[in-house]
This record gives sequence, C-alpha cells and structure tokens, in this order.
Amino acid sequence: MATKRDVIAVGDPVLRQVAAPVADVADPYVQRLIDDLIETARLANGVGIAAPQISCSERLFIVASRPNARYPQAPLMEPTAMLNPRLVAHGETLVQGWEGCLSVPGVRGLVPRYEHIDVEYLGRDGALRRQQLADFVARIFQHELDHLDGIVFLDRVGGKDDLMSEADYLDMLLAARGSSRG
Ligand code: ZN
Repeated sequence: MATKRDVIAVGDPVLRQVAAPVADVADPYVQRLIDDLIETARLANGVGIAAPQISCSERLFIVASRPNARYPQAPLMEPTAMLNPRLVAHGETLVQGWEGCLSVPGVRGLVPRYEHIDVEYLGRDGALRRQQLADFVARIFQHELDHLDGIVFLDRVGGKDDLMSEADYLDMLLAARGSSRG
C-alpha cells in the first residue's frame, strides 16, 4: 500500500541539500519510496515530485504529467520514476513558463527552461533509459532535477513581476480560454 507523505516547504534545509545517488534501485526501501511519491503527487495534484520534498535526500523523482485542477493544460502520461537522472544535452531555445511547486504552496513564477532536452535515468526496474523530452514534460524534468541539487524554482524567477498567486494564475488561464473561445 502506498502512503501519502508530508511534503516539506521552502525554509526546510533538506530542500537546499544536494541529494545522494540511489545506490540500489531494487532495495525495497527505494521501491516503497517510489510508490509513496507517486501517491503523494497524485493526491496533491502535482505533475512531479522529488524525493527531497518528502525529506528523503536521494536522487529520485517522479514525472506524472496529467491535467488536473492545478495544471488544467498538462499532457497526460503514466507516472514515471526517474532515478539518478541526468540532463545530457539541450537545445538552444529557452522558453518562459509558469511553474508551481508543492513545496512553495499558493505561488506561481515565470521560469525559463530549455524547450528540448536529452536525458538519462534509471527506471524503477534498474534499466538505463535515454529519452528526448520537450515542452511541458521537459520543464517538469528540469524543475525536479533542480530539487536534487538544492534549487527551487523561485531561485530562477527573473523579477517580482514574474510571481503571482496560484488563484490569480488560474483566473488568468480561465480568462485566456474564455477569450480564445469567443
Ligand atoms: Zn517543486
């Protein structure tokens, strides 16, 4: 049974640590951690979550993009565990996009990320995977990878005009959809 874990917020020193590599993917502790992260992200309407966010300073995160109340426009994918992930190459194009974080409740910020990236990681079966990611899923990967290096998205926000409340952000999305319809 997967268990929902408590998500820590900015200010907790664990979020500022560089996480340690996962030594043994098959370890039941690691497999349990993966299940709990997936469950915690699902219940919190997260599209990704990194182990340090539940106080486990290990290089492991979940990418679980799906449309939900916090990210109505997210693409749908199976929750994917990525262990010891690496960004191995990226295109030149940086795109600005609004991000939120379960560890920064109620806030959205405009963050530049690479539009196209090549990544490597171990799956939960221990096999090495190489993938090309683009757009929103590439953004999630870069956001979660930052968590493993003690970085939160607020560190990458350009200025005070690039922050807004989650409520205002969702209002802005609704307004944009209304005008594209009309
Ligand atoms: Zn986050």
